[in-house]
Amino acid sequence: MKKLSFIKKTNGSHWVGDGFPVRNIFSYNDIAEEMSPFLLMDYAGPATFEPTAQRRGVGAHPHRGFETVTIVYDGGVSHRDSAGGGGTIDKGDVQWMTAASGLLHEEYHSPEYAGRGGPFEMIQLWVNLPARDKTVEPGYQAITDAQIPRVPLPGDAGTVRVIAGRYGETSGPAHTFSPMNVWDMRLQGGRSLSLDLQHGHTAALFVLHGAIRIGAHTIQEAEMAVMEREGAQLVFDTTGDSVVLLLSGEPLNEPIVGHGPFVMNTREEIMQAMRDYNDGKFGRMTATR
Ligand code: MN
Repeated sequence: MKKLSFIKKTNGSHWVGDGFPVRNIFSYNDIAEEMSPFLLMDYAGPATFEPTAQRRGVGAHPHRGFETVTIVYDGGVSHRDSAGGGGTIDKGDVQWMTAASGLLHEEYHSPEYAGRGGPFEMIQLWVNLPARDKTVEPGYQAITDAQIPRVPLPGDAGTVRVIAGRYGETSGPAHTFSPMNVWDMRLQGGRSLSLDLQHGHTAALFVLHGAIRIGAHTIQEAEMAVMEREGAQLVFDTTGDSVVLLLSGEPLNEPIVGHGPFVMNTREEIMQAMRDYNDGKFGRMTATR
């Protein structure tokens, strides 16, 4: 059985552009080794926006060396990138963007959501790429709510939406470059759960809503339980109805050298990324609509 290693609380809040009021939950600047292959997670909202015709969000910026995974719990996000990817990510949808060799992208509230306003809640997770895949061509997976299987948990404990990896016999739609699970769990209160994970893998439970208990410890909203790698079973209880994101995966065990939107293995590769960005090698955005 996996033991609780520590409870990670937010590093503080900031705005990403003028659209995303986020709490940074972890980053490669604080717990890189412990969370590998995951690099960073921002929790946007919950927040309420008034209807507007303005574009709220963040304009063109680069990424290289990893993937950005956007999970929309409420609201809607429009995306475009210089590799030709783009689309609208609505409630329940997930965008799995492979920046890899490098691209520019922009992230805004979708015009439909901006026009109606209302609740907004989103997670953006950065997933590291193995060194051998950091310079592959960029990719884009638009994963709709309908494509994400929902599996009932034993004991009427709720459901698992399998975004990536596998729960029991059910596989999620996301293609990943290393073994991992990303599960959106909607849980009933007062239940005990036992999840089968891999010995030796990273595992963490992030609580968006509700609360969970692991042994004598309570993990509250916007907190994350980081587990030990030893053991395969992850055992916890829910104290109320809860929304929990499970992250688990095989640690990459490769050096991490990051600078803002670039995450590579060596300082030289970071310098190269900055030169390539300044030389316009990350592509160009087509004219804004
Ligand atoms: Mn971005």
